[in-house]
Amino acid sequence: MSRVYNFSAGPAVLPEEVLREAADEMLDYQGSGMSVMEMSHRSKVYDKIIKDAEQDLRDLMNIPDNYKVLFLQGGAHLQFAMVPMNLFKNGVGDYIVTGQWAKKAYNEAKKFGKANCVASSEDKTFSYIPDCSDLPISEDADYVYICENNTIYGTKFKELPNTKGKVLVSDVSSCFLSEPVDVTKYGIIYGGVQKNIGPAGVVIVIIREDLITDDVLPGTPTMLKYKTHADADSLYNTPPAYGIYICGKVFKWLKKQGGLEAMKAYNEKKAKILYDFLDESKLFKGTVVKKDRSLMNVPFVTGDADLDALFVKEAAAAGFVNLKGHRSVGGMRASIYNAMPIEGVEKLVEFMKAFEAAHSAE
Ligand SMILES: *Cc1c(COP(=O)(O)O)cnc(C)c1O
Repeated sequence: MSRVYNFSAGPAVLPEEVLREAADEMLDYQGSGMSVMEMSHRSKVYDKIIKDAEQDLRDLMNIPDNYKVLFLQGGAHLQFAMVPMNLFKNGVGDYIVTGQWAKKAYNEAKKFGKANCVASSEDKTFSYIPDCSDLPISEDADYVYICENNTIYGTKFKELPNTKGKVLVSDVSSCFLSEPVDVTKYGIIYGGVQKNIGPAGVVIVIIREDLITDDVLPGTPTMLKYKTHADADSLYNTPPAYGIYICGKVFKWLKKQGGLEAMKAYNEKKAKILYDFLDESKLFKGTVVKKDRSLMNVPFVTGDADLDALFVKEAAAAGFVNLKGHRSVGGMRASIYNAMPIEGVEKLVEFMKAFEAAHSAE
């Protein structure tokens, strides 16, 4: 068996320890005589799995009691619709458009009411985070929406926007659990888990209780009401049971690493190795404004599309896979989520140095 260094943006690398544990438990989960894939989501055994997962997440993020944790399906994309369907009372949402995911959410919200783009960084290919200290927030906005870490472009909000008292909704898909957050600053925090937490198929929604009501847009399907899932502790219907079990293992792994403060320090150390190299390299360049750089997704280019393609190909042959940039931006992108070991980044930089030496001699 040989494992590669997987720099995929998602689905992405998971802790090897977690995968080994899951493998050990595959045929017989803790004496139950069956796999977690095979057990009823109403069984006592499974109830402990989902309850422990929720509690460990609450511990990691310090989630206050007046917030619910929901394990849902439909990916981050379904939240683009569920947010307005559940939160629209005046039918107005203010969106800060910092990339393709925020833009998709913004466009989806238009189907349900009025969506305003109150700030955007599209003028410079989403390579920065706009100043959000004094935005023209709508008086009657039901919420202000951000995508906190822009997976494709590699930018991150280092400071939350001033929402002028409005509820903040944040898509944290690609920075979930990468550093501590103050949950009380948000109305909703949500993310697909396949970037930084677990296997595809689970989306976690952390939502303040007063935002969970029956007062949703007319015609909202039962399955798309937060209240349906909150009232049933995420067991209204069959949840993505196996995925939640793996997420739970990752939560325990994160606790063992020292929690989110420790992850932040580790992630900063890891990202610095790559960014420092990009800043000194004559061949490779980072593509975003320094102060807005993401710790999780690091896009870079050589400035020559053919050379980019050659780099991606040679890197893959050397065991550094999925370094191709998103199809909408080209170049390269290294996603260095929680589970990417520091050696992976160190070795990638060594490889980049060798590639640079080989190609500047020409
Ligand atoms: C990947 C991603 C999405 C889309 O996730 P799906 O689960 O495929 O719907 C949305 N937002 C962000 C920030 C992402 O990184």
